[in-house]
Amino acid sequence: MRVGVPREVEPGETRTALVPESVARLRARGLEVAVEAGAGVHAGVTDADFDRAGAVVMSSAAAVVDASDVILGVQLPGRAFVARLRAGQTVVMPLDPARRADLLQALAARGVRAVAIDALPRTTLAQAMDVRSSQATVVGYRAVVVAACALPKMFPLMTTAAGTIAPARVLVLGAGVAGLSAIATARRLGAVVEAFDARRAAREHVESLGARFVEVPGEDAEVAGGYAREVSAEYRLAQAARIGDRVARADVCVTTALVPGRPAPVLVTAAMVEAMRSGSVIVDVAAAEGGNCEVTRPGERFVTSGGVIVIGAVNLAAEVPVHASQMWSRNVEKLLVHLIGPDGVTLRLDATDAITRAVVVIGGPSAAPAGPAGKGGSA
Ligand code: NAD
Repeated sequence: MRVGVPREVEPGETRTALVPESVARLRARGLEVAVEAGAGVHAGVTDADFDRAGAVVMSSAAAVVDASDVILGVQLPGRAFVARLRAGQTVVMPLDPARRADLLQALAARGVRAVAIDALPRTTLAQAMDVRSSQATVVGYRAVVVAACALPKMFPLMTTAAGTIAPARVLVLGAGVAGLSAIATARRLGAVVEAFDARRAAREHVESLGARFVEVPGEDAEVAGGYAREVSAEYRLAQAARIGDRVARADVCVTTALVPGRPAPVLVTAAMVEAMRSGSVIVDVAAAEGGNCEVTRPGERFVTSGGVIVIGAVNLAAEVPVHASQMWSRNVEKLLVHLIGPDGVTLRLDATDAITRAVVVIGGPSAAPAGPAGKGGSA
C-alpha cells in the first residue's frame, strides 16, 4: 500500500500531512510513501529530508495521486483533486461530513473510500489520532501570541525601578481544547485570566490552569461527546449580562466558542466592543464559523472607531506550520496504523471498532452485526 502526500494548495495553508519522522515509521511497517516536491517547504522539511526518510518525491500532485492507494491532506479536498481520484483509492483528510454532503457524494461517485479525519470520536483511545484536538491546541497558543503582539501593553506583572506594571487581563470565551490552550499560554505570559464556557464541566479544567471561571447560573449546555448545544434565549441574556462587564474590563478577549454543525454563537456584541478600552484586542478564533464577536470580519484585522483591535482568525494553525504539521503527522500516522490490518499493508475495516465506524464515511464496514469473525473487509 502506498500513502501519498500532495502539497496543500489552499491559499495560506502551510502545513503538511506527514513529516519525515512518520514517513520513516510507516516505511518500517512496510508501507510505501510518495510526497509531492515542496510539500514540506513551510514546515521546515525539504525534499531531501523526505527522501532520506524513505519517501519517493514526485514532481506533481497528479503523479502522487495516481501512484497512491491512500492519499492524505490537511484541507478539505477541492474539485480538481476529487476529479483525479479513481475507484479503490482511499482519502484520509478533513471532510466536514455533517455539512458537506455534496463532497461525500462526489467522492462516492468516484468509487473512493473516504476517511474523515475530522469525524473521530472524542475518546481516550482516539485522542492520539485527533487532529481537531492537536490543531486546536496550536490555535489557542497562537491566538494568545497574536493578541500579545497586537496589545500595546505587556502581559506580566512587573515590579521595576520605573514603577509597577499591572498584569494584562485576558478573558477567554469557550474553554474547549483551543480555549484551554489559550488560558495556559496567557497564564505562562503572566496575565490574569478569566474564562467562561456554557458547559459546567469546563470549570474544573479552567481552574486547574489557574484561571477564574465566570459562572453563569442556569443550564448546562453539555451534550453527548462533550460538545455544547445551542443555549436558550434566557441563558443567552444571562450570559450577556454576566460577561458584558468582563469584556469591558479585558485587555484581551480570545473567543473560541463553537457548537457542532451550527454557526458560532455570538457572545461579544457590538455594544460590548464599544465599551472596551482603546488598544484592547479581540482575537476571534471562531471567525471561520461566523465569529463569536458581532463585529468580526473573518480573515481580517481592523481597528474599531473606539480603538479596539479585532482579529478574525481563520487558520491560526497554519501560522505555526512546523509543530502543527508534526502533530498532524503523528495523528494521521496513528490513525493509519489503527486502520491497517494484521497483514501490515492493507486497510482493515472492522465493523466492531468505534473509531473505524466513525471515520470511514464512505466505503465503510458493513452495518451488519459482527460476531467473533466480524473483522470486516480489507482494502
Ligand atoms: P468546540 O470546538 O466544539 O467548542 C469550543 C468550546 O465552546 C466548547 O468547550 C463549548 O462548550 C464552548 N461553547 C459552545 N457554545 C458556547 C456558548 N454559548 N458559551 C460559551 N461557550 C460555548 O469544543 P472542543 O474543543 O472540540 O471540545 C469539545 C468537547 O470534547 C469538550 O468537552 C472537550 O473536553 C472534549 N474533548 C475530548 C477529547 C478526548 O477525550 N479525546 C479530546 C478533545 C476534546
